[in-house]
Amino acid sequence: AVPLLEVEGLDVTFDTLGGPVHAVRGADWSVRQGETLVVLGESGSGKSVSLHAVAGLLPANGHTAGRVRFQGRDVLGLRGAQLRRFCAENYGMVFQDPMSSLDPSFTVGDQIAEILRVHRGASAKDAWQRAMDLLSVVRIDDPARRAKQYPHELSGGMRQRVMIAMAIALDPPLFLADEPTTALDTSVRGAVLETMIELRDRLSMGVVLITHDIGVAAAVADRVAVMYAGRVVEYGTAEQVLHQPGHPYTAALLGSLPRLRRLRSTLTAIPGAPPNAARLPAGCSFHPRCRFATDRCAEELPVLQLSGAGQVAACHWTERLSADGDLGYWRAG
Ligand code: SF4
Ligand code: MG
Repeated sequence: AVPLLEVEGLDVTFDTLGGPVHAVRGADWSVRQGETLVVLGESGSGKSVSLHAVAGLLPANGHTAGRVRFQGRDVLGLRGAQLRRFCAENYGMVFQDPMSSLDPSFTVGDQIAEILRVHRGASAKDAWQRAMDLLSVVRIDDPARRAKQYPHELSGGMRQRVMIAMAIALDPPLFLADEPTTALDTSVRGAVLETMIELRDRLSMGVVLITHDIGVAAAVADRVAVMYAGRVVEYGTAEQVLHQPGHPYTAALLGSLPRLRRLRSTLTAIPGAPPNAARLPAGCSFHPRCRFATDRCAEELPVLQLSGAGQVAACHWTERLSADGDLGYWRAG
């Protein structure tokens, strides 16, 4: 099947007073209909920037190179109103903080209905009815009452459900979510993710979900792209990447957790800090933190190479480390 969204050699550079900052370097990934791709990484790894590039949300000082194709159509070439219309029609988007995306001065029902009036020319009555349908689709109880409430009257979990309802209002083929559960109480995270997956299956959407949380990745991913210092350093099925990592960085992320089943997951347990995008170390960007680093790692940039069936890792030693079982913290049994 042709991928729904295909990202090839994506580069994003920001002009800053200190000079250009290369935030994303040659990222490759794709997502198919009905599939969830999780882009996993620490903050500053370039994962949100990649998503913003795909969704036409980069600030004016951001420049892209490479290719992003949606159903075969070039996205990076779109500009202005054309780009906004394209994104509104094809992507549903949800971000970390629902409060910042909702308008505090309108009821949530009005905000959902507005989308249908503007993009579908629905009558006020039909749009309102559909808004209530959408609220029940995202599992908000008593939609007739909730629709008349303002964002501040709802819990964080409910606000995020409202955002999801708005995101799917136009039946987009692709759902983009940037840390959708990070701002929520841990008690409601699982349920919100479950609703997203249920909708993915029901509407046959492709989903790209950005997270720093391995627990989230393990709960929803079909495939995982791990980003470090602006590059995709590992890519494969969730089973491969989260159970038989081929890159020492991924292994370190997983190794920082007591058990995959109890993923709680901040990714900060690896000694050292991720490098500043403006001053990357030579060679492998991970080498100052890598327990397997050799002289070669400090000099030569590793390219993605196969480490398993369809699984790729950007590490000079992936083959040897995998063969020796050095990275296989989560091998079955
Ligand atoms: Fe570690 Fe070297 Fe592999 Fe980089 S290339 S992840 S430093 S072993
Ligand atoms: Mg981010």
